[in-house]
Amino acid sequence: MFVDVAKIRIKAGDGGNGAVSFHREKYVAAGGPDGGDGGRGGNVVFQADTNLSSLIDFKYKKKFTAQNGQNGSGKRCTGKTAPDLVIKVPKGTLIREAESGRIMADISSGEPVVLARGGNGGWGNSHFATPTRQIPRFAKPGAVGESYEVTLELKLLADVGLVGFPNVGKSTLISVVSAAKPIIANYPFTTLTPVLGVVRLDQDTSFVMADIPGLIEGASEGVGLGHEFLRHVDRCRLLIHVVDVSGSEGRDPREDFETINRELKNFSEEISQRPQIVAGNKCDLASPEQIAEFQAYVEEKGFPFFPITAAAHQGVDELIRLTAARLAELPPIREYEPEAVPVEQLVKKGKRDFTIRVEDGVYMVEGPWLMEAFGMVDLEDEESLQYFQRVLRDTGIIAKLEESGVQEGDTVNILDIEFEYVR
Ligand code: GDP
Ligand code: MG
Repeated sequence: MFVDVAKIRIKAGDGGNGAVSFHREKYVAAGGPDGGDGGRGGNVVFQADTNLSSLIDFKYKKKFTAQNGQNGSGKRCTGKTAPDLVIKVPKGTLIREAESGRIMADISSGEPVVLARGGNGGWGNSHFATPTRQIPRFAKPGAVGESYEVTLELKLLADVGLVGFPNVGKSTLISVVSAAKPIIANYPFTTLTPVLGVVRLDQDTSFVMADIPGLIEGASEGVGLGHEFLRHVDRCRLLIHVVDVSGSEGRDPREDFETINRELKNFSEEISQRPQIVAGNKCDLASPEQIAEFQAYVEEKGFPFFPITAAAHQGVDELIRLTAARLAELPPIREYEPEAVPVEQLVKKGKRDFTIRVEDGVYMVEGPWLMEAFGMVDLEDEESLQYFQRVLRDTGIIAKLEESGVQEGDTVNILDIEFEYVR
């Protein structure tokens, strides 16, 4: 079974609690507070694993919880920081927050990505001793670790996607141009999982080709197989549309060609605009007139056409050379940028707990949810800036700043983003 979507719950560890403890020694009457801090909770981290090719691991296991930080103890002993929980996913996995659908991360590179941050440990009572309060009998609890319900969606990383009706020879083509060994058989739906193959032209030129299974009529509405697989076309920079020019299955190549293009368009306008090269396959079974007629039809529509006989490796090299040349002109494989938390969601969740304190004339805004909201704000970017301002307003931070007496020109600091207050 091929699984390329999943929904799971992730929870970072809570911080350990700070300790309440007092220094004790024989013959020493009243020692000072020596309660240590709690340790940090473990983060939930995602990392690409090239050995994985599906999300099958997430079909049954749906909950992933990192360990909590250890509590602090006496003698100023800090609790242990919990280890990160690393979740391995196939390369190309897109992670969205289930609630809003916003993209949290695209696990396409080898870099580990922290999706849920562990809570900080609480301070032990040793932090709270002051000249007037020498016996603090309290400590802080650890902060709660972040938790999310997320959807995982595998969107393969391939330069070229093979599309076309079942049985036209897509699997045959990928098997003759790469080391990929898909099942090839003379009946539809033989390919049930997308297959990736590396096509190597020479020392420095290669690209990744994906055999996208079963694109059939109605696929974009979810009829039969295919729809589910269209997501894998999403990142492809170029499509090779394989058509059986001989009409050996009793079908009309033109009609097939139009049907597939219609399906792509119904699924996504953007994908239907991808550069497309048409490979007219099974030329060994077609008459020269059939080939010429279909070629004229395709070229008239503005697509490059290549007559091939994949099974006999004929015409294939030219097709691959042109494909590589075309790819060299195209932008790289798309990677998705993380998206900000919708402001409405922040407000709805009542994420308004924050404090403002003035330190050396700077208004410091602090709160547990600020990282979630502002973690990826980039003040150089106009859209990002607008988002930032909306959150400040809609979550009540501006109002509270005004209440605290902020003046035009004062400096405000949020997560080390410093800006000048302007009314
Ligand atoms: P897919 O469903 O598009 O992946 O098609 P397959 O690659 O599985 O091929 C379907 C059938 O067509 C198989 O029996 C292949 O051997 C056959 N086939 C593929 N390419 C050619 C070709 O160029 N000429 C002929 N005559 N048959 C081919
Ligand atoms: Mg196939």
